[in-house]
Amino acid sequence: MFLLKATQLNFQVIFQKFTIVTRSCESDNVHYLNIGKCDEWTYDGVDTWGNLRCDTTNFCSTGQFQSPVNILSSGDGSFLPRLTFTDYSRIEKMYCDNNGHGIECEFFNGYYVNDDNGETFQSAQFHLHILSEETLPRPGDVVSLHIVHLQNPSPSTSKIAISVIGILFKIGNASPLLDPIVQQLPNLQLEGNGTTIDFPGFQQYFSDLRAQNKDSYWNYPGSLTTPPCTEKIDWTVLEFQPTLSQSQFDNLLATIKVTTHSATNKTNRRPVQRKLYNVPYYPGGPRSTSHGPTPSSIALAVIVAILLVVVLVLAVLLIMKSTSSQETHSYSSVQ
Ligand SMILES: [Zn+2]
Repeated sequence: MFLLKATQLNFQVIFQKFTIVTRSCESDNVHYLNIGKCDEWTYDGVDTWGNLRCDTTNFCSTGQFQSPVNILSSGDGSFLPRLTFTDYSRIEKMYCDNNGHGIECEFFNGYYVNDDNGETFQSAQFHLHILSEETLPRPGDVVSLHIVHLQNPSPSTSKIAISVIGILFKIGNASPLLDPIVQQLPNLQLEGNGTTIDFPGFQQYFSDLRAQNKDSYWNYPGSLTTPPCTEKIDWTVLEFQPTLSQSQFDNLLATIKVTTHSATNKTNRRPVQRKLYNVPYYPGGPRSTSHGPTPSSIALAVIVAILLVVVLVLAVLLIMKSTSSQETHSYSSVQ
């Protein structure tokens, strides 16, 4: 618990903009937002979240950029940056707890960087949604892992300062990434249970994505998917679809069923709020345009330069020949 408070304090210092710490709005909450205190809420009552006292802006009921979303098609993302995930390897242990709405792990040592402008986002926590919240133009996603980040340093303007990276899993081979948390589920069965867990796999996961040019993603503006449904959240959903085993999924779902403050809805998934078409999509791998000249553009420039030199030389030769002819004519006239 001391570690928990110490890290929260750390973030309060770093992110002066978000001064009120609240533990009441869980899951997607970033504890540091000035969002007030949420009433008790459940996944059964998603249609009544707008009545919660913490939803002072009525985002839950009338927000225009609510999440989760259903991505139906991809659009141009040529303006999007490639993302570099770094320092996740420094993670040795995380404090994870059952907050009554799911499993959440504090996660302060990961960073990702916008390759275009160097903006850096620092991880705050990750949590799981079972079943998956976002839906993509593909089948099979059953679990969402959301990593919440805060921009570091915090921007001085009203620019987006909170981002969420979404990783969506399908059933298949066992997930080394999720295995540590699955192994500790017996210690996370009841609300308020918490334990420290080793998580060695994040950096390797992101490094592999980068090395194999599988770092494609969709990007769109959205909201927290739990009360108070705060908007101006920058969402990045990775296209790469990792797997978890049926056994891992069953164990996670069994835990969620008793932790969601829900009598009938035995998942911690908010229903889809919007359908999105032409969502900006980064295709993965290094950029071939708008980051300096490509080999073909260099070759074209060389050819043009050579042609210009040839034309210039010919022009000089013509001028010299013309001048010489005039001089001869003048000399003949004098004679
Ligand atoms: Zn979430």
